[in-house]
Amino acid sequence: MKIYADNAATTKMSRTAIEAMLRPMEEEYGNPSSLYVLGQRAKEIIEEARARIAAVIGAEPREILFTSGGSEADNQAILSAAALGIRDGKRHIISTAFEHHAVLHTLKKLENEGFEITLLDVHSDGIVRPDQVREAIRDDTCLVTIMYANNEIGTIQPIREIGEICRAKGVLFHTDAVQAVGHLPIDVKAQNIDLLSASAHKFHGPKGIGFLYARRGVRLTNLIEGGAQERGKRAGTENTPAIAGMAAALCEVAGKIEENAAHLIPLRDRLIAGLLEISHSALNGDPEKRLPGNVNFCFEGIEGESLLLLLDDRGICASSGSACTSGSLDPSHVLLAIGRIHDVAHGSLRLSLGEEATEEEVDYLIQNVKEVVAYLRGFSPVWRDLQSGKKDFIL
Ligand SMILES: *Cc1c(COP(=O)(O)O)cnc(C)c1O
Repeated sequence: MKIYADNAATTKMSRTAIEAMLRPMEEEYGNPSSLYVLGQRAKEIIEEARARIAAVIGAEPREILFTSGGSEADNQAILSAAALGIRDGKRHIISTAFEHHAVLHTLKKLENEGFEITLLDVHSDGIVRPDQVREAIRDDTCLVTIMYANNEIGTIQPIREIGEICRAKGVLFHTDAVQAVGHLPIDVKAQNIDLLSASAHKFHGPKGIGFLYARRGVRLTNLIEGGAQERGKRAGTENTPAIAGMAAALCEVAGKIEENAAHLIPLRDRLIAGLLEISHSALNGDPEKRLPGNVNFCFEGIEGESLLLLLDDRGICASSGSACTSGSLDPSHVLLAIGRIHDVAHGSLRLSLGEEATEEEVDYLIQNVKEVVAYLRGFSPVWRDLQSGKKDFIL
């Protein structure tokens, strides 16, 4: 059996999205800035996509700016808010310790430029409390940026409440909603969101395209200089096929959010229950306030990388929080942020189910993870020390 259980990393493009891209590639390939009909037709495709995307999140079309993906949208949102902060003499930004690197590294850059960054601790259940935000806001705070749903542990944040606090204090609120758009209902107005990032390849659209929602009145700084595309805020000839594919993918999934959740939640919970049968294992993040397809576990006494490779041999695509870079093993900053210690964080596994997942596949996942964990523990020196009592179990 082949199972793709890494939908949080990227998703397979939907047929609807692929088909929506064909006409702008084969027939309506004009430059949207050109005045002849072929160009104007491409322009129409883009504006129609903008309107459809805006409608899905309760925005106005002019509040949607196309970007090359989630990372660019995060960079532009944060750097724009920082520029407004400089104008107003405010150089303090609040975020959390478990954001995506597109946010964390942008904040690091601002810190080097004289900004003060407060990274809130995340509760052990993977959820930031609105009161933490309220207490951290100062007179010189120009931005609060907190992700909508975490990409590793799937926990969903109290966005509306955080937005309400920011709005009352007159502080801009950005949310990296890359994992949420197309998977959870979003209404930027009701949720008091000023800036929101999204990426098409996380909801069955093409890679290399995304969007930034910026509430009317929030002035954006452009990252790329050149032509006057995107109201002068993002130069470069628009990727018409990708924009059309993104809109088609989003409209399709947005119409099925409840249906997909109703299908996925029981499968997710079955997977969680099955993996909890493994001794000295633990679920990461709140069991309920999490994305419908997200399961993230720690298994004591093993390394995530070995687990992934052996699962790959069995046809399973999964992910581990830890990234193996140039020989040094860094455990996931997300797992460390929720209080997992290094040793435990190393043995992590993320399984992110797609909408087409079946019960049979979930059972295959449970069976194989159980076997591979047992196999790896069989020759793990750490496991031997835990077994003999030389080291204490944590989970
Ligand atoms: C995938 C992801 C991003 C990056 O999006 P790209 O389109 O790949 O640049 C940013 N934030 C989160 C939470 C993500 O999951």
